[in-house]
Amino acid sequence: MRRTCCISIDVDPIPCYYRIHSLGQPPPDMRSRIMCAALPRFSRLFAERNIKATFFIVAEDIDVKALGNDAIAMRAALREVRAEGHEIANHSYSHPYELARLSRFEVRDQLDRSHDLLSSFNGKAIDGFRAPGYDISAITLEELLRLDYKYDSSVFPAPGYYLAKALVMGALRLIGRKSGAVMTNARALTAPITPYRPSVQAPWRKGNAGIFELPVAVTRRTRTPVIGTNLLLVPPWLRSHWLRSMAKREFFNLELHGIDLCDAEDDGMPSELIARQPDLRIPAATKMESLAQIIDEIAESGSEFSTLSEYVSGLGVSVD
Ligand SMILES: [Zn+2]
Repeated sequence: MRRTCCISIDVDPIPCYYRIHSLGQPPPDMRSRIMCAALPRFSRLFAERNIKATFFIVAEDIDVKALGNDAIAMRAALREVRAEGHEIANHSYSHPYELARLSRFEVRDQLDRSHDLLSSFNGKAIDGFRAPGYDISAITLEELLRLDYKYDSSVFPAPGYYLAKALVMGALRLIGRKSGAVMTNARALTAPITPYRPSVQAPWRKGNAGIFELPVAVTRRTRTPVIGTNLLLVPPWLRSHWLRSMAKREFFNLELHGIDLCDAEDDGMPSELIARQPDLRIPAATKMESLAQIIDEIAESGSEFSTLSEYVSGLGVSVD
């Protein structure tokens, strides 16, 4: 059995974390910090192992008309990633956590703008999309079909993630603040955990839409999220246990975030953000070493690495 691991990185900028944690506006010089600090680290690590990955980009970050010099700096960082042969994919225009609740007109605006910006930067069409907060909707899926996308990779069928999100939002409400996060549609919790063609009316179910859904990895029995953020923080024995369980599967959609390789000190992260994201205190070098070990363990188990776009173009007409 051929086994494939696709590593993808959601490059969410700092304002996203300020929204989730209800921290107000971030300092103005922070917009490009994650992209400019983390992308070269991912790139270096992947180059050493000859791996091609997928980077989900919030298109506003490369919109010079909207963000001026910040966008110019982020375009330079992303150009390096593109030159290494990694895939650039769509993570919406401005990362609205409420995307699944917006009108068709608003969803279309988010997708058209991001698709145009990212395609022209990329020099070729964009093949894939991941929704902010993993919240895919029927309208979003229809718009992806209209734009001829080959895959969506938003479904995250993990009750643990759902619960953690509810707890953070509830805790903020208790102290009179409101998180910018929006609850993911609970129907995703019962979605298939392996690639499938979704139903257009209900993207969490199998159907016959002309696009593939590539769910983010969870374990088979307990549906525990096997995402980079968790793998980097748990003890090595638990990490190996999860990786061994994923090694038996044909497809391992390993998701990370740009912030996973950021460093409180080296990257000058604001103290209010460090308080909410304590993993920023772990030095970037330590986290890069852990990620290198994760990648080596996956390679030793016999999996091959590819981008999500390459993987999906190898899928047949029917998937189970
Ligand atoms: Zn995101």
